[in-house]
Amino acid sequence: MMPLNIFAKVAPLLRETKFNNDSASIIDFLGKYHLGDWIYPSALHRELKLDIKSVYELLELCAEEGIIEQYLQIYCPECQRFIGSYYKTLLEIPETVNCLHCDTEITNPLQHAVIIYRVKNNEQR
Ligand SMILES: [Zn+2]
Repeated sequence: MMPLNIFAKVAPLLRETKFNNDSASIIDFLGKYHLGDWIYPSALHRELKLDIKSVYELLELCAEEGIIEQYLQIYCPECQRFIGSYYKTLLEIPETVNCLHCDTEITNPLQHAVIIYRVKNNEQR
């Protein structure tokens, strides 16, 4: 049985955009993400060979369709990893945070905030 690709609903939208030529591979790739998964724009940039601006355009399109939602994560300037906490809005980010991995205290976390997305399920069934 084919697993349900929740991103299939954006396929018709992609046909009207610059993603038209790549829409099949984009939908295929996004289909690997399931409910609750985190989507890192850098992964799409790497795997789909899209420039980072296009990646965000694509993900915003999916967000507008209610398939994914935006979150923020803090990138540790010391160990170059995400610190392990997720925030829904900029206002939720504390003034200082500690990296879960190297325990560095990050005093200006807003400067290291990166937008990521999470697959959500708002389908009415
Ligand atoms: Zn760190």
